[in-house]
Amino acid sequence: FFSKSSSVQTESASWKAGEPVPYAALCQTFEKIEETTKRLLILEYLVKLLVTVIKLSPESLLTVIYLSINKLCPEYEGLELGIGESLLMKAIAESTGREMKKIKADYADIGDLGVVAMNSRSNQPTMFRPKALTIPHVFKTLKDIASLSGNSSQKQKVDKIKLLLVSCRNKEAKYLMRSLEGKLRIGLAERTVVVALAQAIVLSTPDIKKLSQERLQARLEKAAEVVKAVYSELPCYDLIVPALLKGGIDNLKAECKLTPGIPLKPMLAHPTKALTDILDRFENTAFTCEYKYDGERAQIHKLEDGRSMIYSRNSENMSAKYPDIMEKLSKFSKDNTTSFVLDCEAVAWDREQQCILPFQVLSTRKRKDVKEEDIKVQVCVFPFDLLYLNGRSLLQEPLEKRRELLYEHFHEVPGEFAFAKSMNSTQIEDIQTFLDQSVANNCEGLMVKIMNGDEATYEPSKRSRNWLKVKKDYLAGVGDSIDLVVIGAYIGKGKRTGVYGGYLLACYDPDREVYQSICKIGTGFSEQDLEDLHKSMKDHVIAEPKSYYLLGEGNKPDVWFAPVQVWEIKCADLSLSPVYKAAVGIVDASRGISLRFPRFIRIRDDKTPENATSSEQIADMYNDQKLNTVKNNNGGGID
Ligand code: ATP
Repeated sequence: FFSKSSSVQTESASWKAGEPVPYAALCQTFEKIEETTKRLLILEYLVKLLVTVIKLSPESLLTVIYLSINKLCPEYEGLELGIGESLLMKAIAESTGREMKKIKADYADIGDLGVVAMNSRSNQPTMFRPKALTIPHVFKTLKDIASLSGNSSQKQKVDKIKLLLVSCRNKEAKYLMRSLEGKLRIGLAERTVVVALAQAIVLSTPDIKKLSQERLQARLEKAAEVVKAVYSELPCYDLIVPALLKGGIDNLKAECKLTPGIPLKPMLAHPTKALTDILDRFENTAFTCEYKYDGERAQIHKLEDGRSMIYSRNSENMSAKYPDIMEKLSKFSKDNTTSFVLDCEAVAWDREQQCILPFQVLSTRKRKDVKEEDIKVQVCVFPFDLLYLNGRSLLQEPLEKRRELLYEHFHEVPGEFAFAKSMNSTQIEDIQTFLDQSVANNCEGLMVKIMNGDEATYEPSKRSRNWLKVKKDYLAGVGDSIDLVVIGAYIGKGKRTGVYGGYLLACYDPDREVYQSICKIGTGFSEQDLEDLHKSMKDHVIAEPKSYYLLGEGNKPDVWFAPVQVWEIKCADLSLSPVYKAAVGIVDASRGISLRFPRFIRIRDDKTPENATSSEQIADMYNDQKLNTVKNNNGGGID
């Protein structure tokens, strides 16, 4: 990793200490990464680049990280790439002088606009050589493009893309296009980037060469753990990268902690199939059962300076969706509470009957620019965790303590703010009764959580086995619902003329950045659903499937969609399939997994397509199902 020189020659530009990083340096690394599937090699390539950046141009480290994960800012700021292909094709045509017709034909043929742009550029005679692109310039232009809105924004976007394109050399056009599209598809997962960042910081410390190989390895592993943990608590590279450059790994935890105003990644739960699974898992451990409310997760932040905000499960700022909650926040906390972060579920509430309403009612609320006087659906907030209080993070405290502090510092307001209902018993009959009660109260089931000890801490972003979810349907053997992305549709016939009659769905593989086809779906829709879905999806039709759709031979819907919507789906079971590609390579080398008898439940507005059920989760569900079949055949198993 250690280069002695203070300059580097890339394919097309030289890079001296103190100068901005050439875009070519990043693209060369992307190219090497794309050529391999070996995780360690991918990590090594990126670490090499980052070490050089730290040495020659440390002020560019943050932007190099952002471009490597293809993001422009922290998620909660909501600025995203994902430029439509027609705009990109227009920019390629105008910057290369090629006919649109030819570009469209190439795209249909090659299926990758990055490659189309690169080929179009390389066939073009160049009169003069524009200045080489640099990382700060590319990043700033991408940010400008994503920020443009309004009437003339399309033309302005095309103009800016054209300016970048004419300066591209070698493979740069390929990666630039893919960045603009929103998917790099080089097999570089964000968690690898986090590990590479940690390792590069360690390898850049002055005394590092003196360490034995063994101690160096231990340091690298520890550093990766530290940065991963800090990132899930404070998902903001804008704060983490400068802190790492200034104080290294050792000071990171002290510098970067959970901070009100910055949403942390929520802790997630593991599904269970039977009540007996809970007892198996939590034998000899104190646990608590809570109602699993069926609404929308809401992370409520209150800052010392008096500001407050509400974030979704996805770290999206929902303060404008819930002006009614924002208005009442001060009523819920006691006087001894100056700052806090609460983990809650916001649920639709029937004022007259004083009871919880089903999720469907909540989903009728507008998401943006809600005026308090127009609100028809009242919401009751059910806090189930307290993560931060009066300047102190509580993440390392056990749930019992966090709950105690929650009760101590907040009070219930009927119909507006109520502590999640809980029950502590290890008797299966009591748990069953509590589950029945929760369902009778319009809840989805139970959340079962460890109360004390090291396993009872709050684990941001983790799907933890210390939190189990028991949904009412599990017990009937149906299994957890699955959240899938709609990527295509079949034109409706007969009764379904005029709307789409069925849809093609996909799960997401975050490591490879591809959507993998999983099943066709045609049931579970009401007539109204079919009309609404047709209306909302027809604006997202694209001419060709995205190059990041992994499809089987027979996956040929009548229309393709850009990945925009996530649907909650239930199914009878999962099976191996030669036609679909979900989780291919995990359970079976060539066959994917498909859903049998899939049924539409609802749209999941609170999940982005990249938050859809992952290939790994699909593989886990398939394997669990096999395990349960064996258990059942042996006389054990499901209640
Ligand atoms: P995933 O499927 O990725 O786990 P999800 O949002 O679909 O995500 P669910 O299966 O619905 O997760 O279960 C967890 C969700 O349940 C939480 O994200 C939260 O919104 C909700 N919830 C309701 N009541 C509670 C509770 N008492 N404790 C924790 N979460 C709760």
